[in-house]
Parts: sequence; C-alpha cells; structure tokens
Amino acid sequence: MSKIETAYFSMEIALRNDIPTFSGGLGVLAGDTLKSFADLAAPVVAVTLIYNNGYFVQNISKDGVQEESLADWDPARTMKLLGPKVELCIENHSVWVRAWQYDQKGLTGHIVPVIFLDTNLVENYPEDRAITQQLYSGDNSMRIHQEVVLGIGGAKMLEALGYRDLKTYHMNEGHAAFLTFELLARLDWKDEAVRRRCVFTTHTPVPAGHDEFDYELVQRVLGVYTPWHVRDIAGRDRLNMTVLALNMSRYANGVAQKHGEVSRRMFPDFDIDAITNGVHSATWTAPAFQALYDKYIPGWRADPEKLAAADKIPDAEIVSAHNVEKAKLLAYIQEKTGEVFAPEILTVGFARRAATYKRGDLLFTDLERLVNICRGKAQFVFAGKAHPRDIPGKEVIRRIVNIAKKLRLENKLKVVFLENYDMALGALLTAGADAWLNNPVRPREASGTSGMKAAHNAVPNFSVLDGWWIEGCVEGVTGWSIGPPATENDLIENSNDADARDLYEKLEKALIPAYYNDRPRWAYIMKNAVAKNASVFNTHRMCKEYLRKSYTPKPVAVA
Ligand SMILES: *Cc1c(COP(=O)(O)O)cnc(C)c1O
Repeated sequence: MSKIETAYFSMEIALRNDIPTFSGGLGVLAGDTLKSFADLAAPVVAVTLIYNNGYFVQNISKDGVQEESLADWDPARTMKLLGPKVELCIENHSVWVRAWQYDQKGLTGHIVPVIFLDTNLVENYPEDRAITQQLYSGDNSMRIHQEVVLGIGGAKMLEALGYRDLKTYHMNEGHAAFLTFELLARLDWKDEAVRRRCVFTTHTPVPAGHDEFDYELVQRVLGVYTPWHVRDIAGRDRLNMTVLALNMSRYANGVAQKHGEVSRRMFPDFDIDAITNGVHSATWTAPAFQALYDKYIPGWRADPEKLAAADKIPDAEIVSAHNVEKAKLLAYIQEKTGEVFAPEILTVGFARRAATYKRGDLLFTDLERLVNICRGKAQFVFAGKAHPRDIPGKEVIRRIVNIAKKLRLENKLKVVFLENYDMALGALLTAGADAWLNNPVRPREASGTSGMKAAHNAVPNFSVLDGWWIEGCVEGVTGWSIGPPATENDLIENSNDADARDLYEKLEKALIPAYYNDRPRWAYIMKNAVAKNASVFNTHRMCKEYLRKSYTPKPVAVA
C-alpha cells in the first residue's frame, strides 16, 4: 500500500454495468483509465462516491417522454466495506464518511483499489445520509456537499487508509478540487507545496460547463475548510472549481489536441497541455473480435498498439465477425421494439447523452431528402439519456421517438430509439452498427469516446470533425467526416443546415455506394478503423502519456 504514488479522483467512475455510479463519458473514461492502470501495474488508487441510487434508469413512454426511476443495487455484492470512518465538518456539524473498496484487477494480477465514499451512516442526519445517494441530482447546494465529500472526505479517507506516500493527486475534472483545501491545511497553507502534488484534467469546452458556487454558499458549507485567500486561487466573484484546480496544479491537460487549444483560449493564464482520450481495448472489443485478434494479433490486450497489424486479417473473417455482432444488435432491437431490422441493410448507430449540442436530431433536418436517400438502403438506431433537468435534451429524445414512429407508420424508413443507454447497450451498439454517427456542434465535444469503441469493432466512424475524430479521421480510409474542418477555437454558431446537407451528401455518395457496390472498399475501411484508430485511441496509450507527462513530477530547478 505504501508504494502507491497517485490518487485518482473522479465524481463518477464506470467500471462495470452493475456498479451504476456513472452518467456518461466522464465516468466511462475514468473506469477505462483505471482498468489500463491495473493492466500496466501502475501504482494508483482511485476515489469516487457510491451513489446508492445510481444516476437513473430511463424509460421512454410511447410518446417519447423520458421517465426516470431510481437504480437499485447493492455494493456488498462487488465490494468490501472498509473499517475506517472519517469525520467532516460540513455546515458546522459533523458528517461521517465510510468507504467501500472495489479491486480492479489487471491482466497480470496488479490491483488498483477503487474507494467509494459513503455517507449513508446511522451517525448522520437524514439529509447528510443522502449526500452520496444519487449522481448529479439536486441543486447547487447538494452539488457542493458532494464535492466536499469527494475532495476533502476523499483526501482524509486516503490518509485514514494508510496511503501516506502519495506524490500526485489527480483531479479528473474540477469536481474534486476541494481536495486542495485539505492539502493546504496539511502543508502549512503553502500554495506551492500543494501545487507540487496536484494535477488536473479538464473535460469541458464551454464556460457554462464548469462548476461555480457563490461564496456565501461556500462559506456556509465549508466554513473552516475555506482558506483565507480563496478568492486569489478560485476566482474573485464566485468560486470556480476549474480555476481552483488550474491554480493549484503543477500540470493540466485537455482530453484531445483540439480541446487543449480550446481550453488554452478559455483560460489564457494557464499552461494547458493535451492528452487525447482512449477506451480500454479489452472491455470494448466484442467477443467475436476478441477471438479474431487473439488469432491474428496475440498480445493485443496488453499492448493494443499491436492492433495496427489488423490490416493483415483476411477481409472475410473481419466481415463474418462483424456479422455475428450485428446479429446480436438486431436481435436486441427486435426483442425490445418488435421492429425487424434486415441484416443486409446498412445500419447506422447513434448513442450519447441527449445534450442539445450533440444534435441527436440533426439527421431529421430534411425528412424528405433523408427518406429519398435512405429508403430501403439504411436504417437507424438511437439511444441516450437526458439529464433529468435538461428540458431541451428531453425534447430532442421526444422528437427522435416521434419522427421514428411516423417514418415507420408511413413505411418510409426504419428508425428505433432504445431505452436506458448504459455500458451494456453501449457495447452492443458500438459493435453491432455498420457505421457510427456523431454530429456535435463544434468545438463542444471535448473528445468523445464511443467512436473509439466502434473502431475497436471495425465499425467506421461517420462524424463531425471535433474532439478525437480530428486526429482519427482519414477520409474514406478510417471513416468519413461531416461538415468543414474545425478551424475555430472559440464557440461559434454552427450551421445546422450545412452540416445536415453534408451528412446527406456523404450518406448518398460515399457510405451507401461503398456499402452496397464496393464490398472490398468497405472491408478496407473496417480494417483501417482498427489498424489506424483502435491502435491509437485506447487507454493503454493514454495512461502511458499520463504516467510520463502528468504523474512524473518535474525536477525542481536548482538556483
Ligand atoms: C462510451 C459511453 C459514453 C461516452 O460516449 P461519447 O461518444 O463520449 O458520448 C457515454 N455513455 C455510455 C453508456 C458509454 O458507454
């Protein structure tokens, strides 16, 4: 235990589908990161919150209205309850925190302990027991309570558990930045001493995405934990968690090269590097492809860069592995919706959080044109959750569901929306679709990772040039782009119409002709998705970059 050097803090971590303590990309990235650290035998411990009710379970009514219910799961099935409890002072009274441990075991048996903090203790008031109940629920006051438990409670818990030689505290997004307050108290209130120990990853390319709190609320909730110079390090008028994290870190990074540029533009006073995201290869490679890689690329799990050799796999075997996974998806669609999707039809998948900037309904901009191009030639499968308070996001879901219904009834096009997007459905979709669609408003997709999962299963991406796809797209070789290159680093008003026109144009002139009339070309693109994308956009490569650039403290210059 004493050898562990780095503590990884994240508000959400998605390790497995039966530990539903995540909402989307941030959590999946964190989970995949820890799996790769375990495979690489890196000396890392992780901290997050337990969320006994998860995020939420999504049901969609016949009219397309999202209905939410609580997740129900039992941590005791997968984790062990630890002995130590730590006491926090929140709103001027005691709040006790206990911890559960999940052991993330790597390929060679190395364990990354993942600590889940829990305030559901009889010692606590009911409102404090609820702090770790549900992810991203409640108002700003609930949010700051959760972030105090994560940051300050997490740092205290690590100490209580005996992690005393930590050289690096990694804040995965600003949610954990209150840990710097705890470190300040331990280190004689010396900013420089804290800065030497902290690193930060930002995931948000829009100013509104960064957590901010009124100082009145901060004072009320954090009280004695608030350092006297908080306005110098966290923002003059309101406490901004990103500014705090940036000010207190020796190293900071964005999650794709473009996102690094966008972040430097947003925070010009800071040095912000970029480490492009990845996915955990063994987790997101479907069984038929695992068998194929085991046959042709032994050692790919420990060293996914080897997937670069995928172009030597015979076309027929790539195609038949894909057909196995496609059949699973089509069977699931039939089971859940009653719709029969023909296996020989080009099937396009789209699944992500239903935030408006992701433009889940862009495909339906010009219905007549869509139907003219795709009738009998393409079918579409959608999934995604909207945050319970995201009214416009829910409206996007409603629109997709209702358009799907109309197109189906008029016998024009097959479109389905699958409920309750989670890790299992994500795996099914990114392996079973023929092409993976993504069309966010540039440059708001910090990285995006579902397309990397698709690439691991030889499913080419068809995406707006944003996030990782700027780096991964070789037109007509690894997949296809939509719209113009992303030259801008500021928020701009994208033209929905221009992007939609390009989407239709590519469907009509590139995807559909290649899929039906040029099978060797399609197989070539499938193989290059693996060889050129999966070999790079995996968390093994990413974690090695973190170990080298972020987790290795720079030597202090001697005057
Ligand atoms: C991979 C994944 C995401 C993130 O995908 P993006 O492309 O970044 O939107 C979100 N939710 C689930 C369930 C996932 O598996």
